[in-house]
Amino acid sequence: MQTVSTIDALRGQIAKLRGPDGASIGLVPTMGALHEGHLTLVRRAREACDHVVASIFVNPTQFGPGEDLDAYPRQLEADAAMLEAEGCALIWAPDVAAMYPQGFASNISVSGVSEGFCGADRPGHFDGVATVVCKLFHQVLPDIAFFGEKDWQQLAVIRAMARDLDLTQPHALSIIGVPTVREADGLAMSSRNRYLSADERAAAATLPRAMKEAIAKIEGGEQAPPALAALEQQLIGAGFSSVDYATLADAASLAPIEALSGASGRLLVAARIGGTRLIDNMAVG
Ligand code: AMP
Repeated sequence: MQTVSTIDALRGQIAKLRGPDGASIGLVPTMGALHEGHLTLVRRAREACDHVVASIFVNPTQFGPGEDLDAYPRQLEADAAMLEAEGCALIWAPDVAAMYPQGFASNISVSGVSEGFCGADRPGHFDGVATVVCKLFHQVLPDIAFFGEKDWQQLAVIRAMARDLDLTQPHALSIIGVPTVREADGLAMSSRNRYLSADERAAAATLPRAMKEAIAKIEGGEQAPPALAALEQQLIGAGFSSVDYATLADAASLAPIEALSGASGRLLVAARIGGTRLIDNMAVG
């Protein structure tokens, strides 16, 4: 397994991996600080493709002022060891200057699905995501790219970007969403979970539990607003400091809905505990 940090080196390695017969390449974009969730994406990619390329890049443009860009965990050596053990072929680990050379002036902004939820709470976040993921797609030229459902809205933004920019025409790129990997107590795995103190970590398990209870009520016919108000109360009672959103939405369009209808629903939640913002989402109906 090689680690490369310049575009030229990346292009050379990708050409080698492709080889004369055009071997297939799966891309797993990450910000590093890897856990079982990321490694599950790598395993899915290995099953589907001849070679797996993982990118590790803490993308500054998707962090807002006062967010955790500087504190975000960076551990390239440990990440590389985990990726090698999973049979990853190549790590693409550019620095900020390689990704955004002097004079970089372009931006991809996806309207609609990027506007509510984390898009409303974190202005500019999804522009940063869409732009860097579009660059990663053009840098690596994968056959399939793998993303976690943990970041449901991000996945919707990336699918919209790839569709709108004609990246997913037949015989081009496919995007695969992989179900969220959870700890034994149900908490969705996240690189940010390591910010939690022991008490906060214990209380954080209330999030998936309360979401399941709200979903059972909604699936049982209760309207979403009272079920979600109870969910918010449960989180605050467990020690969360605030709830940024707890919303039932159409799973595809992300338009908020008050009750289940024919289409499948998704419960999306963002809540803060201590200084940490946790997000989760689950299927409804
Ligand atoms: P990140 O490093 O947090 O940017 O995540 C990189 C990729 O891993 C994204 O596609 C995430 O959605 C995915 N991911 C993060 N956590 C999980 C998880 N618990 N289960 C599945 N995928 C995840």
